[in-house]
Amino acid sequence: MSRLFYQTRLARPELDRAEGIHMWDVTGKRYIDGSSGAMVSNIGHSNPRVLAAMHKQMERATFGYRLHFQTEASEALAERAAALAPEGLGRVFFVSGGSEAVESAMKLARQYALSRGEAQRYKVIARTPSYHGATLGALSVTGYAPMTAPFDPMMRPMPKVPAPRAYLDGLDAEDPATGLHYAAMLEARILEEGPETVLAFIVEPVGGASTGALVPPAEYMREIRKICDTYGVLLIHDEVMSGGGRTGRFFGAEHWDVAPDLICLSKGFGGGYVPLGAVIARDDMVETVLDHGGFIHGHTYAGNPLACAAGLAVLEEIDTQDLTGNAARMGDVLASRLRDLKQKYPVIGDVRGKGLLLAFELMRDRASKAPLPATLNAHSRLVEIAYENGLILYSRRTRGGLSGDHFLVCPPMIVNAEQVEEIVDLLDKSLARFVAELP
Ligand code: PLP
Repeated sequence: MSRLFYQTRLARPELDRAEGIHMWDVTGKRYIDGSSGAMVSNIGHSNPRVLAAMHKQMERATFGYRLHFQTEASEALAERAAALAPEGLGRVFFVSGGSEAVESAMKLARQYALSRGEAQRYKVIARTPSYHGATLGALSVTGYAPMTAPFDPMMRPMPKVPAPRAYLDGLDAEDPATGLHYAAMLEARILEEGPETVLAFIVEPVGGASTGALVPPAEYMREIRKICDTYGVLLIHDEVMSGGGRTGRFFGAEHWDVAPDLICLSKGFGGGYVPLGAVIARDDMVETVLDHGGFIHGHTYAGNPLACAAGLAVLEEIDTQDLTGNAARMGDVLASRLRDLKQKYPVIGDVRGKGLLLAFELMRDRASKAPLPATLNAHSRLVEIAYENGLILYSRRTRGGLSGDHFLVCPPMIVNAEQVEEIVDLLDKSLARFVAELP
């Protein structure tokens, strides 16, 4: 018995090595990393540029406490991250993961409000479903009952509005009226809560694990920006999963040309090489907070030079290899092949996403959008079959909800057309067996 424990007793093979889009266990079995882990290994495994940069940094210094030293690596990474962000968002706060990024963004927002004499603003409105992290603060803005319910008494309840799942509500996602319809729910909620109490709205520009790559309907992103401005509510884009190029733009929100006040980044930012995340904030917000006594927040490992050197090399690789462009191109190919599978398998109720942040959702019946019976545990069964076939997928199920079982198909952004075909073939084979097993 292993002394280690995670969520369940599920035992997994021992990993031997990983390179490019492939991983091998110690028995020599090869897997395609069809989900980049948890949408993390965006530039693939064992990238020589990143390994060399880490090695070089390790020989200089692996740790310098951020309050004792500035480092070339952290300054350079902050500069590069800020250059990617929208105009006016030029200040970078490093953390070691997505939950920490969300916590930090919420706390910075709160301190900004306090600095401006708006102590009554503390509510962060979020969406259901959504996932913003496992720590209690990030969990309080997570709309995903299976993960939040046990901890409800330990958290301050935060208001939620429905995520714009037009496909479930039978609405046309291309129609601007649909986007306005969902955005109006945010405005109604702000008014209900009392605008003077609302600090921020947090949103995943392209949905992650909880919604399965949900793409917002037309006009939604622009309209929520306007609503936030009207009521003095800060807009936080949680780009922990959608940031880093996977959607075909560095930030998911670039597809709608909207700028938030705060951006949370992680996952693809460290690319699976190191625990790394960041909050990118509006310059004036940071200046205001620093003028009023400083930001009362920080994590020990934040901005350590090894993580920053790796992160910098990850961004260089994305840039020099045009991996964002490749994500857009290969994403189009993969999305169209997933739609072919939808034609073939009626159990696939929806295919969605942007770039290489793609998902498909299984349904019992497309017309009613009814999910497969929970007892089938489709989300884990199909993953197991794919795993046996050498394809790693990432799945989720909102138990008791209508989001059904969805599967993220998100290979590293270095994937080529031939490998996309191989992924689709393995998926086809896995779905055939899954469907044959259905009662
Ligand atoms: N925010 C989003 C959108 C995520 O997808 C995740 C993780 O899946 C997080 C936050 C939390 O990140 P971490 O698991 O690194 O704490």
